[in-house]
Amino acid sequence: MKKHNFFAGPSILSQYTIKNTADAVINFADMGLSLLEVSHRSKQFTAVIEEASALVKELLQVPEGYTVLWLGGGASMQFCMVPFNLLRKKAAYLETGTWAVNAIKEARLFGDVDVVASSKDANFNFVPTDFVIPADADYFHYTSNNTIYGTELRKDPDSPVPMVADMSSDIFSRPVDVSKYDLIYAGAQKNLAPAGVTLVIVKNDALGHVDRAIPTMLDYRTHVKKDSMFNTPPVLPIFSALQTLRYYKELGGIEKLMLADEEKAARLYDAIDSSRMFVGTAQADSRSIMNVCFVMAPEYKELEGEFAEFAASKGMMGIKGHRSVGGFRASLYNALPLESVEALIDCMKQFEAKH
Ligand SMILES: *Cc1c(COP(=O)(O)O)cnc(C)c1O
Repeated sequence: MKKHNFFAGPSILSQYTIKNTADAVINFADMGLSLLEVSHRSKQFTAVIEEASALVKELLQVPEGYTVLWLGGGASMQFCMVPFNLLRKKAAYLETGTWAVNAIKEARLFGDVDVVASSKDANFNFVPTDFVIPADADYFHYTSNNTIYGTELRKDPDSPVPMVADMSSDIFSRPVDVSKYDLIYAGAQKNLAPAGVTLVIVKNDALGHVDRAIPTMLDYRTHVKKDSMFNTPPVLPIFSALQTLRYYKELGGIEKLMLADEEKAARLYDAIDSSRMFVGTAQADSRSIMNVCFVMAPEYKELEGEFAEFAASKGMMGIKGHRSVGGFRASLYNALPLESVEALIDCMKQFEAKH
Protein backbone atom coordinates (compact mmCIF):
# COMPACT_ATOMS: atom_id res chain seq x y z
CA MET A 1 0.00 0.00 0.00
CA LYS A 2 1.20 3.49 -0.81
CA LYS A 3 2.21 5.40 2.32
CA HIS A 4 1.49 9.09 2.74
CA ASN A 5 3.97 10.81 5.03
CA PHE A 6 2.49 13.57 7.22
CA PHE A 7 5.07 13.43 10.02
CA ALA A 8 5.87 16.82 11.58
CA GLY A 9 9.62 16.27 11.84
CA PRO A 10 11.77 14.53 10.98
CA SER A 11 9.52 14.48 7.98
CA ILE A 12 9.11 13.74 4.31
CA LEU A 13 12.04 14.36 1.96
CA SER A 14 11.96 14.20 -1.81
CA GLN A 15 12.77 10.85 -3.38
CA TYR A 16 15.53 12.71 -5.23
CA THR A 17 17.13 13.62 -1.89
CA ILE A 18 16.74 10.15 -0.42
CA LYS A 19 17.97 8.27 -3.46
CA ASN A 20 21.00 10.47 -4.04
CA THR A 21 21.89 10.28 -0.34
CA ALA A 22 21.58 6.49 -0.40
CA ASP A 23 23.81 6.32 -3.48
CA ALA A 24 26.43 8.57 -1.85
CA VAL A 25 26.44 6.40 1.25
CA ILE A 26 27.66 3.62 -1.04
CA ASN A 27 29.84 5.60 -3.43
CA PHE A 28 30.39 9.30 -2.89
CA ALA A 29 31.36 11.47 -5.87
CA ASP A 30 32.85 8.47 -7.68
CA MET A 31 35.56 8.19 -5.05
CA GLY A 32 34.82 4.50 -4.55
CA LEU A 33 34.25 5.32 -0.87
CA SER A 34 31.18 6.03 1.21
CA LEU A 35 30.20 9.59 2.12
CA LEU A 36 30.38 8.29 5.70
CA GLU A 37 34.11 7.57 5.55
CA VAL A 38 35.80 10.47 3.79
CA SER A 39 37.31 13.64 5.15
CA HIS A 40 35.13 16.70 5.42
CA ARG A 41 38.17 18.52 4.06
CA SER A 42 38.34 16.44 0.89
CA LYS A 43 37.79 18.52 -2.22
CA GLN A 44 34.71 16.43 -2.98
CA PHE A 45 33.01 17.36 0.28
CA THR A 46 34.18 20.96 0.22
CA ALA A 47 32.41 21.24 -3.11
CA VAL A 48 29.20 19.94 -1.49
CA ILE A 49 29.10 22.50 1.31
CA GLU A 50 30.06 25.35 -1.02
CA GLU A 51 27.32 24.52 -3.51
CA ALA A 52 24.76 24.07 -0.71
CA SER A 53 25.56 27.52 0.75
CA ALA A 54 25.48 29.10 -2.71
CA LEU A 55 22.07 27.57 -3.44
CA VAL A 56 20.63 28.84 -0.14
CA LYS A 57 21.81 32.32 -1.14
CA GLU A 58 20.37 31.98 -4.61
CA LEU A 59 16.99 30.56 -3.61
CA LEU A 60 16.39 33.03 -0.77
CA GLN A 61 18.11 35.94 -2.57
CA VAL A 62 20.42 36.52 0.37
CA PRO A 63 22.07 39.94 0.01
CA GLU A 64 25.81 40.66 0.28
CA GLY A 65 27.20 40.74 3.80
CA TYR A 66 25.54 37.57 5.05
CA THR A 67 27.08 34.15 5.69
CA VAL A 68 25.36 30.79 5.40
CA LEU A 69 26.36 28.39 8.18
CA TRP A 70 25.75 24.68 8.76
CA LEU A 71 25.81 23.99 12.50
CA GLY A 72 25.11 21.13 14.88
CA GLY A 73 22.92 21.22 17.98
CA GLY A 74 19.53 21.61 16.32
CA ALA A 75 17.35 24.70 16.27
CA SER A 76 17.29 24.42 20.06
CA MET A 77 20.97 25.32 20.20
CA GLN A 78 20.15 28.55 18.39
CA PHE A 79 17.82 29.51 21.25
CA CYS A 80 20.96 30.12 23.31
CA MET A 81 23.48 31.03 20.59
CA VAL A 82 21.33 33.93 19.38
CA PRO A 83 21.23 35.84 22.68
CA PHE A 84 24.79 34.78 23.56
CA ASN A 85 26.01 36.55 20.42
CA LEU A 86 23.44 39.30 19.84
CA LEU A 87 21.82 40.35 23.10
CA ARG A 88 23.55 43.33 24.66
CA LYS A 89 20.87 44.68 26.99
CA LYS A 90 17.38 43.92 25.84
CA ALA A 91 15.65 41.83 23.20
CA ALA A 92 12.02 41.62 22.09
CA TYR A 93 10.34 38.24 21.61
CA LEU A 94 6.94 37.18 20.28
CA GLU A 95 5.50 34.26 22.26
CA THR A 96 3.57 32.03 19.87
CA GLY A 97 4.20 28.49 21.03
CA THR A 98 6.45 25.98 22.73
CA TRP A 99 9.49 26.77 20.61
CA ALA A 100 9.13 30.50 21.23
CA VAL A 101 8.78 29.80 24.97
CA ASN A 102 12.00 27.81 24.88
CA ALA A 103 13.79 30.58 23.00
CA ILE A 104 12.58 33.18 25.53
CA LYS A 105 13.79 31.05 28.44
CA GLU A 106 17.32 30.95 27.05
CA ALA A 107 17.37 34.67 26.17
CA ARG A 108 16.57 35.55 29.80
CA LEU A 109 19.94 34.10 30.77
CA PHE A 110 21.62 36.91 28.84
CA GLY A 111 19.60 40.07 29.42
CA ASP A 112 16.17 41.67 29.55
CA VAL A 113 13.50 40.07 27.47
CA ASP A 114 10.45 42.06 26.43
CA VAL A 115 7.68 39.65 25.41
CA VAL A 116 5.78 41.99 23.06
CA ALA A 117 2.72 39.75 22.75
CA SER A 118 1.63 36.23 23.56
CA SER A 119 -1.17 33.89 22.51
CA LYS A 120 -0.50 31.57 25.43
CA ASP A 121 -3.94 32.14 27.01
CA ALA A 122 -5.55 30.82 23.82
CA ASN A 123 -3.33 27.72 23.79
CA PHE A 124 -1.37 29.43 20.99
CA ASN A 125 -4.15 29.05 18.44
CA PHE A 126 -3.25 32.32 16.71
CA VAL A 127 -0.30 34.58 16.00
CA PRO A 128 -0.69 38.04 17.56
CA THR A 129 -0.14 40.86 15.06
CA ASP A 130 -0.99 43.80 17.26
CA PHE A 131 2.15 44.63 19.21
CA VAL A 132 4.82 47.27 19.55
CA ILE A 133 8.48 46.38 19.26
CA PRO A 134 10.60 48.68 21.43
CA ALA A 135 13.00 50.71 19.31
CA ASP A 136 15.79 50.19 21.86
CA ALA A 137 15.73 46.38 21.62
CA ASP A 138 18.83 44.76 20.17
CA TYR A 139 16.65 42.53 18.01
CA PHE A 140 13.12 41.17 17.62
CA HIS A 141 12.77 37.38 17.63
CA TYR A 142 9.79 35.45 16.31
CA THR A 143 8.92 31.91 15.22
CA SER A 144 7.60 32.11 11.67
CA ASN A 145 5.74 28.80 11.82
CA ASN A 146 4.51 27.18 15.01
CA THR A 147 4.87 23.54 14.09
CA ILE A 148 2.97 22.20 17.09
CA TYR A 149 -0.05 24.53 16.87
CA GLY A 150 -0.35 24.92 13.11
CA THR A 151 -0.09 28.71 13.08
CA GLU A 152 2.14 30.83 10.91
CA LEU A 153 3.19 34.41 10.27
CA ARG A 154 3.41 34.33 6.51
CA LYS A 155 5.03 37.67 5.88
CA ASP A 156 8.05 39.46 7.29
CA PRO A 157 6.81 41.70 10.11
CA ASP A 158 7.69 45.38 10.18
CA SER A 159 10.21 46.06 12.88
CA PRO A 160 12.15 49.13 13.99
CA VAL A 161 15.04 46.84 14.94
CA PRO A 162 16.73 43.97 13.10
CA MET A 163 14.89 40.67 13.30
CA VAL A 164 15.85 37.11 14.19
CA ALA A 165 13.56 34.29 13.11
CA ASP A 166 13.21 30.61 13.83
CA MET A 167 12.09 29.38 10.40
CA SER A 168 12.64 25.70 11.16
CA SER A 169 9.35 24.50 9.75
CA ASP A 170 8.53 26.92 6.94
CA ILE A 171 11.82 27.96 5.40
CA PHE A 172 11.73 27.65 1.58
CA SER A 173 7.92 27.95 1.56
CA ARG A 174 7.79 31.70 0.88
CA PRO A 175 10.11 34.49 -0.20
CA VAL A 176 11.85 36.25 2.68
CA ASP A 177 13.33 39.74 2.73
CA VAL A 178 16.58 38.62 4.35
CA SER A 179 17.83 42.22 4.60
CA LYS A 180 15.38 42.78 7.48
CA TYR A 181 17.08 40.08 9.55
CA ASP A 182 20.27 39.85 11.56
CA LEU A 183 19.84 36.10 11.68
CA ILE A 184 17.58 33.33 10.41
CA TYR A 185 17.85 29.76 11.59
CA ALA A 186 16.16 26.51 10.70
CA GLY A 187 16.67 22.97 11.93
CA ALA A 188 16.97 20.91 8.76
CA GLN A 189 14.60 18.09 9.59
CA LYS A 190 11.36 19.79 8.49
CA ASN A 191 11.90 21.09 4.98
CA LEU A 192 15.48 20.36 4.04
CA ALA A 193 17.39 17.31 5.21
CA PRO A 194 17.65 14.57 7.81
CA ALA A 195 18.11 15.71 11.43
CA GLY A 196 21.57 16.74 12.53
CA VAL A 197 22.24 20.09 10.91
CA THR A 198 20.85 23.58 11.39
CA LEU A 199 20.92 26.15 8.64
CA VAL A 200 21.89 29.63 9.85
CA ILE A 201 21.96 32.80 7.75
CA VAL A 202 23.73 35.54 9.67
CA LYS A 203 24.54 39.16 8.91
CA ASN A 204 28.26 39.54 9.39
CA ASP A 205 28.00 43.09 10.78
CA ALA A 206 25.61 41.95 13.52
CA LEU A 207 28.41 39.98 15.22
CA GLY A 208 31.04 41.17 17.66
CA HIS A 209 28.99 43.78 19.55
CA VAL A 210 28.52 42.01 22.89
CA ASP A 211 30.97 42.37 25.76
CA ARG A 212 30.68 38.89 27.22
CA ALA A 213 33.11 36.09 26.47
CA ILE A 214 31.61 33.48 24.17
CA PRO A 215 32.84 29.87 24.13
CA THR A 216 34.52 29.17 20.79
CA MET A 217 31.96 26.70 19.47
CA LEU A 218 29.04 28.95 20.41
CA ASP A 219 30.55 32.02 18.76
CA TYR A 220 29.13 32.51 15.25
CA ARG A 221 32.36 34.27 14.26
CA THR A 222 34.25 31.00 14.67
CA HIS A 223 32.06 29.36 12.06
CA VAL A 224 31.91 32.39 9.77
CA LYS A 225 35.68 32.58 9.72
CA LYS A 226 36.06 28.87 8.93
CA ASP A 227 33.09 28.44 6.54
CA SER A 228 31.40 25.96 8.93
CA MET A 229 34.58 23.86 8.92
CA PHE A 230 36.03 24.85 12.30
CA ASN A 231 35.22 21.34 13.43
CA THR A 232 33.71 18.39 11.59
CA PRO A 233 30.30 19.48 10.31
CA PRO A 234 27.40 17.00 9.97
CA VAL A 235 28.44 15.77 6.53
CA LEU A 236 25.54 13.50 5.72
CA PRO A 237 22.69 15.94 6.41
CA ILE A 238 24.60 18.66 4.57
CA PHE A 239 24.94 16.37 1.55
CA SER A 240 21.20 15.67 1.72
CA ALA A 241 20.44 19.38 2.07
CA LEU A 242 22.33 19.99 -1.15
CA GLN A 243 20.17 17.43 -2.94
CA THR A 244 16.99 19.09 -1.64
CA LEU A 245 18.24 22.53 -2.67
CA ARG A 246 19.06 21.30 -6.18
CA TYR A 247 15.61 19.79 -6.34
CA TYR A 248 13.99 23.06 -5.20
CA LYS A 249 15.89 24.96 -7.86
CA GLU A 250 14.93 22.41 -10.50
CA LEU A 251 11.24 22.76 -9.52
CA GLY A 252 11.43 26.50 -10.20
CA GLY A 253 12.48 28.03 -6.88
CA ILE A 254 10.64 29.52 -3.92
CA GLU A 255 7.67 31.05 -5.77
CA LYS A 256 6.80 27.71 -7.29
CA LEU A 257 7.17 25.91 -3.98
CA MET A 258 4.97 28.50 -2.32
CA LEU A 259 2.18 28.13 -4.86
CA ALA A 260 2.22 24.35 -4.50
CA ASP A 261 2.24 24.62 -0.69
CA GLU A 262 -0.66 27.07 -0.68
CA GLU A 263 -2.66 24.85 -2.99
CA LYS A 264 -2.16 21.79 -0.77
CA ALA A 265 -3.11 23.67 2.39
CA ALA A 266 -6.15 25.32 0.80
CA ARG A 267 -7.48 21.93 -0.30
CA LEU A 268 -7.16 20.43 3.16
CA TYR A 269 -8.57 23.46 5.01
CA ASP A 270 -11.51 23.52 2.58
CA ALA A 271 -12.18 19.87 3.31
CA ILE A 272 -12.05 20.51 7.06
CA ASP A 273 -14.27 23.59 6.85
CA SER A 274 -16.89 21.80 4.77
CA SER A 275 -17.05 18.70 6.97
CA ARG A 276 -19.40 18.28 9.92
CA MET A 277 -17.00 15.95 11.69
CA PHE A 278 -13.65 17.78 11.69
CA VAL A 279 -12.75 21.24 13.03
CA GLY A 280 -9.53 23.20 12.55
CA THR A 281 -7.84 24.34 15.76
CA ALA A 282 -5.99 27.44 14.50
CA GLN A 283 -7.76 30.74 13.97
CA ALA A 284 -8.45 31.21 10.27
CA ASP A 285 -6.14 34.21 9.76
CA SER A 286 -3.22 32.46 11.48
CA ARG A 287 -3.45 29.12 9.71
CA SER A 288 -0.19 27.49 8.74
CA ILE A 289 0.31 26.14 5.24
CA MET A 290 2.85 23.66 6.60
CA ASN A 291 1.10 22.06 9.58
CA VAL A 292 -2.67 21.63 9.50
CA CYS A 293 -4.11 20.87 12.96
CA PHE A 294 -7.65 19.59 13.40
CA VAL A 295 -9.80 17.75 15.92
CA MET A 296 -13.14 15.96 15.87
CA ALA A 297 -16.18 18.16 16.51
CA PRO A 298 -17.46 17.71 20.11
CA GLU A 299 -20.32 15.41 19.11
CA TYR A 300 -17.88 13.06 17.34
CA LYS A 301 -15.07 13.24 19.90
CA GLU A 302 -15.33 9.56 20.81
CA LEU A 303 -14.56 8.60 17.18
CA GLU A 304 -11.05 10.04 17.31
CA GLY A 305 -9.38 6.72 17.99
CA GLU A 306 -11.40 5.02 15.29
CA PHE A 307 -10.46 7.66 12.73
CA ALA A 308 -6.79 7.31 13.67
CA GLU A 309 -7.00 3.58 12.97
CA PHE A 310 -9.00 4.05 9.80
CA ALA A 311 -6.49 6.59 8.46
CA ALA A 312 -3.59 4.30 9.31
CA SER A 313 -5.29 1.46 7.44
CA LYS A 314 -5.36 3.72 4.35
CA GLY A 315 -1.63 4.44 4.56
CA MET A 316 -1.77 7.82 6.34
CA MET A 317 1.38 8.10 8.44
CA GLY A 318 2.16 10.54 11.24
CA ILE A 319 -1.16 12.39 11.51
CA LYS A 320 -1.47 12.13 15.28
CA GLY A 321 -1.61 15.63 16.76
CA HIS A 322 0.96 16.90 19.24
CA ARG A 323 -0.10 16.12 22.82
CA SER A 324 -0.52 19.81 23.63
CA VAL A 325 -3.20 20.24 20.94
CA GLY A 326 -4.61 16.71 20.61
CA GLY A 327 -6.51 15.43 17.59
CA PHE A 328 -4.64 15.39 14.33
CA ARG A 329 -1.91 17.24 12.52
CA ALA A 330 -1.09 16.80 8.87
CA SER A 331 2.25 18.31 7.94
CA LEU A 332 2.34 19.37 4.30
CA TYR A 333 6.02 20.11 3.77
CA ASN A 334 7.46 20.93 0.37
CA ALA A 335 8.25 17.32 -0.51
CA LEU A 336 4.68 16.12 0.11
CA PRO A 337 2.83 15.60 -3.19
CA LEU A 338 -0.68 16.98 -3.73
CA GLU A 339 -1.73 13.39 -4.28
CA SER A 340 -1.12 12.66 -0.58
CA VAL A 341 -3.35 15.56 0.46
CA GLU A 342 -6.05 14.27 -1.86
CA ALA A 343 -5.69 10.81 -0.34
CA LEU A 344 -6.12 12.23 3.16
CA ILE A 345 -9.19 14.23 2.15
CA ASP A 346 -10.64 11.14 0.53
CA CYS A 347 -10.02 9.17 3.70
CA MET A 348 -11.74 11.84 5.82
CA LYS A 349 -14.75 11.86 3.48
CA GLN A 350 -15.04 8.08 3.55
CA PHE A 351 -14.93 8.09 7.32
CA GLU A 352 -17.56 10.79 7.53
CA ALA A 353 -19.81 8.87 5.14
CA LYS A 354 -19.51 5.78 7.35
CA HIS A 355 -20.95 7.68 10.33
C1 LIG B 1 11.30 21.34 15.35
C2 LIG B 1 11.42 22.74 15.75
C3 LIG B 1 12.39 23.19 16.66
C4 LIG B 1 13.33 22.24 17.39
O1 LIG B 1 14.31 21.79 16.55
P1 LIG B 1 15.49 20.85 17.09
O2 LIG B 1 16.34 20.73 15.87
O3 LIG B 1 14.86 19.58 17.53
O4 LIG B 1 16.17 21.56 18.20
C5 LIG B 1 12.48 24.53 16.93
N1 LIG B 1 11.67 25.42 16.34
C6 LIG B 1 10.71 25.04 15.46
C7 LIG B 1 9.82 26.06 14.84
C8 LIG B 1 10.57 23.69 15.15
O5 LIG B 1 9.62 23.31 14.28
